[in-house]
Amino acid sequence: WSSWDFPWTKKLEANNKKVFGNHSFRPNQREIINATMSGHDVFVLMPTGGGKSLTYQLPALICPGITLVISPLVSLIQDQIMHLLQANIPATFLSGNMEWTEQQEILRELNSDYCKYKLLYVTPEKVAKSDVLLRQLESLNARELLARIVIDEAHCVSQWGHDFRPDYQGLGILKQKFPNTPVLALTATATASVKEDVVQALGLVNCIIFRQSFNRPNLWFSVIPKTKKCLDDIDKFIKENHFDECGIIYCLSRMDCEKVAERLQECGHKAAFYHGSIDPAQRAFVQKQWSKDEINIICATVAFGMGINKPDVRFVIHHSLPKSIEGYHQECGRAGRDGQRSSCVLYYSYSDFIRVKHMISQGVAEQSPFTPGHNRFNVANSGRVLETNTENLLRMVSYCENDVDCRRLLQLVHFGEKFDSAHCKKTCDNCSKIKSFIEKDVTDTAKKLVELVKLTGQQFSSSHILEVFRGKHLAKSEASRILRHLVIEDFLMEEVKKSDVYGSVSSVLKVNQSKAHNLIIGRQNVVLRFPSAINSTKLSKSDVTPAKGSLMSG
Ligand code: ADP
Ligand code: ZN
Repeated sequence: WSSWDFPWTKKLEANNKKVFGNHSFRPNQREIINATMSGHDVFVLMPTGGGKSLTYQLPALICPGITLVISPLVSLIQDQIMHLLQANIPATFLSGNMEWTEQQEILRELNSDYCKYKLLYVTPEKVAKSDVLLRQLESLNARELLARIVIDEAHCVSQWGHDFRPDYQGLGILKQKFPNTPVLALTATATASVKEDVVQALGLVNCIIFRQSFNRPNLWFSVIPKTKKCLDDIDKFIKENHFDECGIIYCLSRMDCEKVAERLQECGHKAAFYHGSIDPAQRAFVQKQWSKDEINIICATVAFGMGINKPDVRFVIHHSLPKSIEGYHQECGRAGRDGQRSSCVLYYSYSDFIRVKHMISQGVAEQSPFTPGHNRFNVANSGRVLETNTENLLRMVSYCENDVDCRRLLQLVHFGEKFDSAHCKKTCDNCSKIKSFIEKDVTDTAKKLVELVKLTGQQFSSSHILEVFRGKHLAKSEASRILRHLVIEDFLMEEVKKSDVYGSVSSVLKVNQSKAHNLIIGRQNVVLRFPSAINSTKLSKSDVTPAKGSLMSG
């Protein structure tokens, strides 16, 4: 797809320079544009800041007709439209909150054969709830003016992801109604199972997938035990490492945000708080002060984030446990967009886990505010959804409790990416700790786990398998590490399972026969590294050998 021989190549180059002011394309941009302009359905996984917008705005500009863009957040849409208009690209937005006469005027323009708009933005609930819009799209399509359908933040389609929006599920109707219009789905965060779920729900056909590494070499990761002195620790950390620099502190509750901000102010930092229940004017004020560097620390719930484009955020601190690895990765992704070294520090305590778990089960955990009034989980948090959220949280916990494996490896594996921890170059706490390791042969436990998955019919999730296993002689966290390792090394596979009744999803563990066979017949061993200081798991002399420096020789 990187060819320069497409009929539109010249136009592409010229407009990228002239209209968008870019000297060149960033990784994958040209390829994505060529694929979507060739008429294919395309799924794009690109980290935040990678330049996703250009991949549909440039085609929209040079193709005849109108590009429909579905985007979750009104403020993001307004921001995009402002930029487009500044570049003289006619774009507009239809929303239920608009004056009726204003909507009428836009619809009238859309009906004209000389319609000036190149891009039409809508929120997903507009598609789900407005017959007027659907009829309008049908009319555009009949006049061959519907050039392309773009689904931004496509991971919201999946209940398996961390930001599920029910309105996104209704978007499958677009492909049904307009089977010949190419769809471009974009996201900065999706595991393999989310990707599959999205492709299925949107009904994408022979979809071409572009993905980029999610590794962010300039971010330094660490997890620190959270004590009562946590706020002192944070104050000290900032003063020692990032004094007067810009950062975000993610907190669990609205009250935590206010408490942390107040405390940091007392310590002499320019801090403010931001969460779902401060009023819009105040929110805008805080954002503005932040972008003008009048405030340099924002203590926020996850409501603060999307659409934050500040390039010089030098640290992201998690004052408490994030709800999923995907969410964590995305929140950390707001640091260091300019490529400069930045810190991501997570304060972890088991009691926070209990707290978050409770909030999830009550359905009161705050989410990013895609649409007003949607700050809480939209779906009754029961059954499969609850199971999924709990499972995501448990993975986050095992990430925090792991004090051996490279943080990057642990995160990237979650996104289905292979990563050699030698490339971390000691930029995470676990890689940079100078400590001695012992290697322990855990083949026996590994075998038992694989056999358990088989025996129970390959139909249960990893947390369920662990419940059943409850290795009498093992700490649960150790069994969980071994199970995770079995997935990382492909002995076991995690598959998405759709429940037919509500269409919700969960994952089940399956056995990868060919690899597991070698394990079962003793042709392959499983060896894990453990810090030698920890005696919690009783190691018999025979299964302990000195570390040879290689991580997890399988
Ligand atoms: P994403 O949506 O992937 O987070 P954006 O589309 O908002 O990223 O782009 C991030 C920034 O990168 C924007 O400021 C955009 O103008 C800039 N950008 C995008 N593509 C290019 C390019 N080819 N050359 C230079 N800058 C670019
Ligand atoms: Zn590392």
